Amino acid sequence: MNRPTLPTLALTMLTTAVFADGGFYGDPPDATHPWAIHDMNRPQPMRVEPGTFSTQDQPGQPPSDAVILFGGKAEEIEKWQSDKTPAEATKWVVKDNVLQCVPGSGYIRTKEEFADCQLHIEWSAPSKVEGNSQGRGNSGVFLMGQVEVQVLDNYNNPTYPDGSASSIYGINPPLANPLRAPGEWQTYDIIFRRPIFKDGVELDPGYITVFVNGVLTQDHTPLEGGGGHMRRSTPRAFPEQGPLKLQDHGNPVRYRNIWYRPLPKRAIEGGDASRMSAEATAAKRAEIATSIREDAAKLEGHAKMLRLFESIYYAENEDARNSATAMLGDFVADMKAVPADKIESKKGEILQVVKALRYLSKFKFVPEDIEAKKDLEAIIKVNDWEPKKKK
Ligand code: MG
Repeated sequence: MNRPTLPTLALTMLTTAVFADGGFYGDPPDATHPWAIHDMNRPQPMRVEPGTFSTQDQPGQPPSDAVILFGGKAEEIEKWQSDKTPAEATKWVVKDNVLQCVPGSGYIRTKEEFADCQLHIEWSAPSKVEGNSQGRGNSGVFLMGQVEVQVLDNYNNPTYPDGSASSIYGINPPLANPLRAPGEWQTYDIIFRRPIFKDGVELDPGYITVFVNGVLTQDHTPLEGGGGHMRRSTPRAFPEQGPLKLQDHGNPVRYRNIWYRPLPKRAIEGGDASRMSAEATAAKRAEIATSIREDAAKLEGHAKMLRLFESIYYAENEDARNSATAMLGDFVADMKAVPADKIESKKGEILQVVKALRYLSKFKFVPEDIEAKKDLEAIIKVNDWEPKKKK
């Protein structure tokens, strides 16, 4: 085993200290929430180094965990293939660090397949304005190859609203038209959730949220089957994963700075976000309780006892309860035996244990009239340690 480095050790000690004081605070776990409110046992959010924003002259840096689909290098064309004939290389070209559609060459798609994601993509319509309505600067970003977020130069070019730039094509027009002039770079930030079906029943319609140049244009728009040209689509299941496709609609639209970050599973598909099913909650609570008991095994004294008591509000466990209860009996006996002139040195521990017992009795994990609480509260009263309420 590797020896922990000094910073790791310091972090561990800090975490333990915070944990010891972290429990017995917010409302406890319930049938659909495996964690307490303000629960320090909940995993910390993963660290992501943020990127930088793009300017017209310079694409920004993606965040540290982004999967780069096109970052400006010529060899990144290898990450893409022809959609119609995947065995063949795409005829789209990389020129001046930009991926460009070659009209008539067909859609392209990523070799990489993925589903729920945060997708960042920048595009630029030809500065030489040609055509009108759907014929001007038309391309498209197809999530999973299934649903098109429209790319179109409708800066000054009316078209049917559900086919404007950042419409979910054939489903929903954008909330606004924040496009820049043709030739300038436009930024799409897309949050995509695929539809979830189980046994033919729709559990989640799937959603798309889009920001265009920082302006919200799709606000959690339900997918309704993914849309399309002329025909109304109906809700349907999508595959598990799919490629990102870019459309050749006959216009030499350019792309840069294409990356995505996969998103965690929703609760409905077994993820641990927000409200969960009763079964998943029970399983997660058992898992948390086990890990707390494992942590308790490494501790001593009242810290160990508190950790064991903490574990039982995630999942009842006879051994943990018996062991914590026995330790509590010893703790109270020890405190009662401390001479009056030495008791001040035990103030912190006693207040901490009473806080825990008040919490546990309030939420009925231990009896309301538990003897240990009364005994310790008597010591607190005699010494006038009860924190004064603010007036
Ligand atoms: Mg299109």
